[in-house]
Amino acid sequence: MFNIAIVGSGVIGLSTATVIQDYLKSTAKVTIYSENVSPNTTSDVAAGLWTPYLFFDTSEDKILEWAALTHNQFLKLWKNGSASEAGVSLQFVKSVSEAPYSPFAKHIKFGEQPMMPIDIEEMSKLLKQSFQSGVTYVTVACEPIKYLPYLLEQFLKHGGTLKREKVYHLEHLSGYDLIVNCCGLGASDLNGDTQMRPVRGQVVRVKAPWQFTSVLVGNVYIIPNLSYTILGGTSQIGDCDISIRDSDTTKILHGCNTLVPSIKNAEIIQHNVGIRPGRIKVRLEKDIINVNGKQTPIIHNYGHGGCGITLSYGCAISTAILVKEALNIPHMSKL
Ligand SMILES: Cc1cc2nc3c(=O)[nH]c(=O)nc-3n(C[C@H](O)[C@H](O)[C@H](O)COP(=O)(O)OP(=O)(O)OC[C@H]3O[C@@H](n4cnc5c(N)ncnc54)[C@H](O)[C@@H]3O)c2cc1C
Repeated sequence: MFNIAIVGSGVIGLSTATVIQDYLKSTAKVTIYSENVSPNTTSDVAAGLWTPYLFFDTSEDKILEWAALTHNQFLKLWKNGSASEAGVSLQFVKSVSEAPYSPFAKHIKFGEQPMMPIDIEEMSKLLKQSFQSGVTYVTVACEPIKYLPYLLEQFLKHGGTLKREKVYHLEHLSGYDLIVNCCGLGASDLNGDTQMRPVRGQVVRVKAPWQFTSVLVGNVYIIPNLSYTILGGTSQIGDCDISIRDSDTTKILHGCNTLVPSIKNAEIIQHNVGIRPGRIKVRLEKDIINVNGKQTPIIHNYGHGGCGITLSYGCAISTAILVKEALNIPHMSKL
């Protein structure tokens, strides 16, 4: 029996934990150590829309690989009857950008179509910005405040243990054959990663049950989830202030009300701030650390920036493969 410790219970830690359980079955005992758990992680603040965004210099090939695997997994949950429990929906998206059109991830989205120039001009006039391109497509969204408890339930059902503790030093996690580091932004402190780039995001959660379309126009977005509609947003690089700023709230509400006037009538439920765990590149690799004189493999899986939900399942699969290699378990089957 392999003893595996995972640090972190955001979307990355929980996805990784459940995929490792699935890959190693009864040969692994998995324990998660987590300072914060849902609903108090950054993952809970996310709007949960499948969309590759703010991933800095991570290679596009890797992003496409991980994002495609996650897209398939969300779709599988939507099809197999788990949509309500896991918080998954399939939705229409209108996305308008200041950048020229790029076909990036077009093959994963369903039915991507260019928007009419007249519609893009209208958005430019409304928000007093110069937008250059716009597309419509259908994709999946996965509401974190439902998805995280769903993953945790799966993890516990399969014999996992959750310890609500802060880990001060990875080298103190003794008694494990392997450690997986999914601590998100915590990597700056926990393992002294100087390549982290925190990105502040503020959102407003409202009740707008008539809203079935995600609208993404520059920095302004409206993303319906099953429980709430998320209005955003901000992407302030290097800013770790978790207090709600009235100036951001005003800007978000003004932008969203301008794009979809009925949002004015939506009841405000909550204001949230999350600090995205940006990094120069997503870190997904094996290393070795010394734990009480024992050379212990550690797999890092953190730094997913603005698209941790979008990459979660794909990165969990890549991590599970590295776990099997590190423990010398043959790749061919799931065991
Ligand atoms: C406003 C906003 C909107 C977003 N919208 C989207 C979206 O629509 N789609 C999308 O794909 N992504 C979105 N994101 C990005 C997404 O939220 C993140 O990429 C994702 O949550 C990162 O997940 P994570 O598990 O790495 O980090 P986290 O959720 O921060 O989890 C890290 C975990 O590690 C634990 N931890 C850290 N340090 C320690 C330690 N020393 N000891 C023990 N535990 C520790 C924490 O307590 C926590 O449990 C959004 C983010 C924000 C802020």
